Amino acid sequence: MQVSVFASGSSGNCLLLSGGDTNLLIDAGISMRRTEEALVQVGRRIDDIDGVLITHEHSDHISGLKMLLKYHRLPVYAPRTVANRLRGMLPGIESCLRVIPVGEEFDVRGFALRAFHTPHDTDESVGYRVRGEAVFALATDMGCVTEEIIGGLLGADTVLIESNHDEQMLSYGRYPVYLKRRILSDHGHLSNEHCAQLARQLAESGTARIILGHLSRENNRPELALAASRAALEGTDAWLCCAPVSGCLSVPVERRAFCYR
Ligand SMILES: [Zn+2]
Ligand SMILES: [Zn+2]
Repeated sequence: MQVSVFASGSSGNCLLLSGGDTNLLIDAGISMRRTEEALVQVGRRIDDIDGVLITHEHSDHISGLKMLLKYHRLPVYAPRTVANRLRGMLPGIESCLRVIPVGEEFDVRGFALRAFHTPHDTDESVGYRVRGEAVFALATDMGCVTEEIIGGLLGADTVLIESNHDEQMLSYGRYPVYLKRRILSDHGHLSNEHCAQLARQLAESGTARIILGHLSRENNRPELALAASRAALEGTDAWLCCAPVSGCLSVPVERRAFCYR
């Protein structure tokens, strides 16, 4: 299995998860043209895509969905409340929508998927755990780390987790107070420090590869996010990187080989 991150952050989120003959997008928050260009980089076309998993209806996660569905009638997987929001926003989506039960495993072409809730400033928002030959899990857009999130991520081989902001940069930055409060709240976004604690917990559960994502362009820098998690991961052998704001970063999703030392 392999995950390819095409975009991550408040200007757009989209990644491709591939394994065997199955190709799934998680979120469609970039234009169809950019999605097509990114797919070319990993040797695929939109016709190869088996479905799109949606985390929530904020525009940075769905802005490309309208055009995508206009030309390609792909199945769109979303939990009930998100699906209802999408119905209101995108007339004509109904025949593509597949409402998924949060917390229960469901199958898409050989991938076992499970959505779990993330606390965010919308009625419903989820992360995904996808099990094929190995396990990939994603959790972004979360104000805090809940037991449900830990349950969704723990033991995954490769994860993408949110490392949204540096608290100092946010506090002293130019955002208005109401927005700072929103981001810092339990239903906002995860700070580098809180992400680092989560990264440590995941590495100790056996996660081999950790991708930091959804970095704020205004209130973070990749080197700060990496430094915070790197410090927390000291003594573990977890591999760490930052997802690109745009482009294409491919990371393997593999079972950790047993190592006799
Ligand atoms: Zn977002
Ligand atoms: Zn959001």
